[in-house]
Amino acid sequence: MKRVLVTGATGLVGRALMAELQAAGEEAVGLSSADADLTDAEASRAIFARHRPEIVFHLAAHVRGIMGNAGVHGQAYLDNIRINTNTIEAARLAGARKIVAMGSAAIYSDLAPLPMREADIWSGPPHPSEIGYAHAKRAMLAQLEAYRDQWGLDYAYAVSTNLFGPHDRFDERHGHVIPSLISKFHRAARTGETVVIWGTGTPRRDFLYVKDAARALRLLADRFTGPINLASGRAVSIRETATLIGEICGYRGTLAWDAGKPDGQLARDYDTTHLAALGFEPSYRLGEALAETLRWFAAHEAGARR
Ligand code: NAP
Repeated sequence: MKRVLVTGATGLVGRALMAELQAAGEEAVGLSSADADLTDAEASRAIFARHRPEIVFHLAAHVRGIMGNAGVHGQAYLDNIRINTNTIEAARLAGARKIVAMGSAAIYSDLAPLPMREADIWSGPPHPSEIGYAHAKRAMLAQLEAYRDQWGLDYAYAVSTNLFGPHDRFDERHGHVIPSLISKFHRAARTGETVVIWGTGTPRRDFLYVKDAARALRLLADRFTGPINLASGRAVSIRETATLIGEICGYRGTLAWDAGKPDGQLARDYDTTHLAALGFEPSYRLGEALAETLRWFAAHEAGARR
């Protein structure tokens, strides 16, 4: 049996990955910030020395939505650079063989040609709306590449699109677009209030269900080295997504757009050729995955993370 350790095991991706590993009969130790604060180098070294993992799924991060990142780019950079630097160094010192790290498609520049390809990761600066978070994610890739070069520590880096699903943060103000909209529409379907959506609705996003993402991460551990796009390969506009969520929630009112709020990057389409070559394709359609997420949220509304 491989010794597997998952950082960020209590988050959106972490819970899905722990369930995926368990279903596959793989035992894994899952860590949260209560087990070790990974911004602390000593605490990071100690927890890795205790578990001596061979395979590390590194998911822990400070994650926020577009408004949550606004005005705190320095903090987003500092927190994430510390978490990543400490985790990768602690994994190396503990003798890990491979790290599967959750990167982010925020590392791409809007100057990169569409669909975005792994070869264009370093072309141009990341979009200003997530600059601190994105630079920390780029630095993690640089660290992994340097460690592989000097110490032969194998890695896969998931250049991940927007994910959603059960156990997400349903924070209407600072969270990601899908959980925020599910929370708004679910309430408005009962109260009849008008749902106000940020931005113009025109940006295109590629959304991937977290259960599919977890399955892909296992594949990366077994079969891939380097950075790879983790996405569905099917981008939809925010307007289409909002309309679909409204229908699923049973909302009968109108949609109001607050164009004063930022749109973020206008188009994000990803080339998923490398992921498809590993035999991966999403098993959930967007509507089906949204409906499952809504059912989870409706059943856990009071205790859901915000
Ligand atoms: P999440 O739900 O916010 O979970 C974050 C996890 O990190 C939690 O388990 C949290 O532990 C842990 N954590 C935070 N700060 C920590 C610290 N200082 N020390 C130790 N653990 C800490 O995030 P997520 O959405 O699952 O994201 C997982 C990964 O995917 C992240 O690397 C993120 O950048 C990446 N990603 C996410 C998306 C998305 O749409 N969600 C898209 C692209 C990439 P506690 O529960 O104890 O706080």
